[in-house]
Amino acid sequence: MAEKAKVWFADASATNWTESLVCKAKDLFYEAKLNECIEKGDSVAIKIHIGEWNRTRCLRPELVAAIVEEVKACGGRPFVVDTTTLTYHAYNSRCTGTLELENAARHGFTEASMGCPVVIGDGFSGDDDVRVELPTGVVLKEAYVAAALAHADAMINLAHAKGHPITSFGGCIKNIGIGGQSKRGKYHEHLAHWGSPEDFIGWPASYPEKCLGVKCEFHQQCMDGCPRGAIRIDETGFHRDTEKCYLCYSCQVTCIFTGHESQTFIPDYFPYAQMAMSDAALGVMLTFEPGKVGHMAYAIDVDPNCDCIPWATLPATPDIGVFASKDPVAIDTAILDMIDAAPVYPGGANKAFEGREYKRGQEKFAITQGASPRYQLMAGVKNGLGTMDYELITYEPPLTREHVAKWQIRTTPTTLIVRRMWEKRDFLKEVQPFKRVPFAEKPPYQDFAVPDRTEYLKKLPVKEWVEALGK
Ligand code: SF4
Ligand code: SF4
Repeated sequence: MAEKAKVWFADASATNWTESLVCKAKDLFYEAKLNECIEKGDSVAIKIHIGEWNRTRCLRPELVAAIVEEVKACGGRPFVVDTTTLTYHAYNSRCTGTLELENAARHGFTEASMGCPVVIGDGFSGDDDVRVELPTGVVLKEAYVAAALAHADAMINLAHAKGHPITSFGGCIKNIGIGGQSKRGKYHEHLAHWGSPEDFIGWPASYPEKCLGVKCEFHQQCMDGCPRGAIRIDETGFHRDTEKCYLCYSCQVTCIFTGHESQTFIPDYFPYAQMAMSDAALGVMLTFEPGKVGHMAYAIDVDPNCDCIPWATLPATPDIGVFASKDPVAIDTAILDMIDAAPVYPGGANKAFEGREYKRGQEKFAITQGASPRYQLMAGVKNGLGTMDYELITYEPPLTREHVAKWQIRTTPTTLIVRRMWEKRDFLKEVQPFKRVPFAEKPPYQDFAVPDRTEYLKKLPVKEWVEALGK
């Protein structure tokens, strides 16, 4: 019987220094032997999702810096990388290299915060790529991998686990299967090359008769949002120049998120998009020698939608933790299992997806996103990307003197630095910072009666919380 893939997991709870998520991520990097992917002098891509402008639930620089530091400790030369995107909507902040760098800085992803350069992996306009053949691809037979990944010696695929409006779930497979592709690679794995306009797979599902025409409040945004100038909206409704359309999702996103029904997707599109994504992820893996890629994911701020959406709603689940593995399919399977088993975040995603309520133990993202997220896993097994058969190894950091010190800003107590400063100040006979007074002068906090706020709390405008208070 084939050996199970190992997936390491540390939960998001913490009660002391060793249990910080940053420290646990550093520990898992070594527990999962990701350090073995890196030889001295290797250029190491740390692939992240930078997140859209105004997005609040994405990775934080500190969580990335944790891995940058360990790649450096292994002798690697790290750089943090993401790629340009398709337009997706009229106000996209990552569709050119310069916009994306501006956006990265706003999210705090800079050399100053993380200790290594930030690179846009497919360049200024998203054309810098390497074509890879995919003989085992389920849907795709070729991928276009961002040059910065294809030309690196090693990679740490550092994902943020969350839902996704097209692929249902976004974890390690998605972080490279979409995020590791150049612009034409993204068109390709979004199936823009497939079929004819009436198929509604490689083309938007278009129902012009449902368009409100110029009476639609968003008709100008709808036209301006097309990077190909392919849309005209007039008194007679919606018109698309199919010669020009490249399938970028922008008109669909505008129409869907403004509550209209003219430009959308058909349900069959979503499983195909997931399978193509797994093929494209395989394309990235094929640009590295075996053993040169490690996968990690933070399952915190588990928003039902992806970091490519320029807002964040309340999460699907409470924070779960950090994962590490050498198998991208196994790690994503483990994360999804954990998300499905996790309690539902009170008043969370359910609020943003009316009528589609999460149930604990059921496939959460299948409920809100319209398709099971597991097509990407099954396609990843079929094309040879990895296995869904995994062994979960739960990691608990030891509470020892040595381990407390291990990942701190200095391995010797910083208090000793301050002690030396005070010794010097004592030597200089500087005035001390406070005057001692008798304890009897304490303010009488016992005289304050803490008010009962229960009745007031019941009036707060969050329905689910108020209902819970009444129980
Ligand atoms: S958003 Fe939808 S309804 Fe409004 S103009 Fe565009 S296609 Fe028509
Ligand atoms: S018409 Fe085509 S290219 Fe234009 S916004 Fe819609 S999907 Fe994108």
